[in-house]
Amino acid sequence: MRFSLKNNILTPILNKETPDSLPISLIEAIPALPLNESSHFNYELQRLLHGKQLLLDDLPYPLEEIQSHYENGYIHYRKGIIKEKNKIVCARCGNKDSSLFASFPCARFGEDECTYCRKCIMMGRVSACTPLISWAGPEPLQELTENPLVWNGALSPGQQHASDQVKQNVVENKELLVWAVCGAGKTEVLFEGISTALASGKRVCIATPRTDVVLELGPRLKAVFPGIQVAVLYGGSEDRHLQAPLTIATTHQLLRFYKAFDTVILDEVDAFPYTADESLHYAVRQSRKYISSMIYLTATPSQKWQNECRSGKRDFVTIPARYHRHPLPVPSFKWCGNWEKLLKKEKLPPVVTQWIKKRLDNQKQCLLFLPKIDKMGKALTVLRKSYPKIQAVHSEDPDRKGKVQMMRNKEIPMLLTTTILERGVTFPNIDVAVIGSEDRIFTESALVQIAGRVGRSFDHPKGDITFFHYGKTESMVKAQKQILNMNSEAKKKGLIDY
Ligand SMILES: [Zn+2]
Ligand SMILES: [Zn+2]
Repeated sequence: MRFSLKNNILTPILNKETPDSLPISLIEAIPALPLNESSHFNYELQRLLHGKQLLLDDLPYPLEEIQSHYENGYIHYRKGIIKEKNKIVCARCGNKDSSLFASFPCARFGEDECTYCRKCIMMGRVSACTPLISWAGPEPLQELTENPLVWNGALSPGQQHASDQVKQNVVENKELLVWAVCGAGKTEVLFEGISTALASGKRVCIATPRTDVVLELGPRLKAVFPGIQVAVLYGGSEDRHLQAPLTIATTHQLLRFYKAFDTVILDEVDAFPYTADESLHYAVRQSRKYISSMIYLTATPSQKWQNECRSGKRDFVTIPARYHRHPLPVPSFKWCGNWEKLLKKEKLPPVVTQWIKKRLDNQKQCLLFLPKIDKMGKALTVLRKSYPKIQAVHSEDPDRKGKVQMMRNKEIPMLLTTTILERGVTFPNIDVAVIGSEDRIFTESALVQIAGRVGRSFDHPKGDITFFHYGKTESMVKAQKQILNMNSEAKKKGLIDY
């Protein structure tokens, strides 16, 4: 679409031949018009657009209606694609990588070549001629609920301390990292903070890189905030247009939000794809209001963040102990020689075989991590000769969920896995080993997460975690040290008894 700028008002031009008309990305400055409060506005449009940045195609209203809201200051237009000197930036996803832009003959005018962003194309095409549309009028009224939290569980002292900090940061609109060990129960730590925010009319979002987590958190939060509408957003979910006080979303879904939330809680900051994708960081920033609080949650902050915590540059609170008051199982290292070479001969290192035999003979379930799918396949063939019921899972396995469930039902004695099960899964009573823990896929945080699978349940708070390696790595040493540090901090604070 083209616009012309007259009397400081942007007007869409549907006829290409109009002189002075330009695609929106070529108009230098886009005026935001003052709010004309005496004019009426469409409440449905307000509900749909508030806190969002959408394309014309996302809005089921005629262009004239959108335009009149713009002229009365209820709507802002922004460039979807920003062209500066030799640089192109996508305003929705922050993409600056020139290889992720392409051109197409724009349908709106037939022959026009139009630049669009390939990076966020799955949310609809942002191109040089499309405005990003956002709401600039009053916020929709939100009914206040005085005490929205209905939960009668109890927090451990470690959780309570973190919960108080979260609450304070929510009230004061600050940033906080909650560094909670695997199995500490971090979700409960958010309840009071979220409740306080909701009671004061704030809009809250819990975002996480992983769809699995969204699906798990949705029902949990609906249960403890029964009077609050909760929007659960992931690729293909039906709540897309729901304006709810509480939103639970994948970080991808935040690409459609714009200055929407007073409180953003980002769970698993260190998880893929968030860590690897700059546009998701951009999406989180864009979704926050100018004045807002930000709570990060993780069991395994990056090295950079750990350093920032230590040097006082980042506000953080730790939960160094699990709710069952037992220390975290500490990984032991065992050299296993050139295991890859042995696998080629259809053998496993004897030290590994012994470890497995000891457990399976005693009916103890185990999880065995391997760095690569092909190596895992080989190990499976070898192990099945003695234990035919063993299964293996990896990220592309269509029966992933089924096999995890079989493991939960104790139908299989052992599950081989790639890092796909490093986080998010809980089996009540297992031992865990890593073969080839020297592989670079096993970062410090991956290893801490893997060790965190052990001893999670109240009835089985202990277990064995062994890293079988062909050469110790810095990541292994750091992972072990991180766990030891958490245990000694927990001991000092009186959070563990054993
Ligand atoms: Zn984009
Ligand atoms: Zn175009």
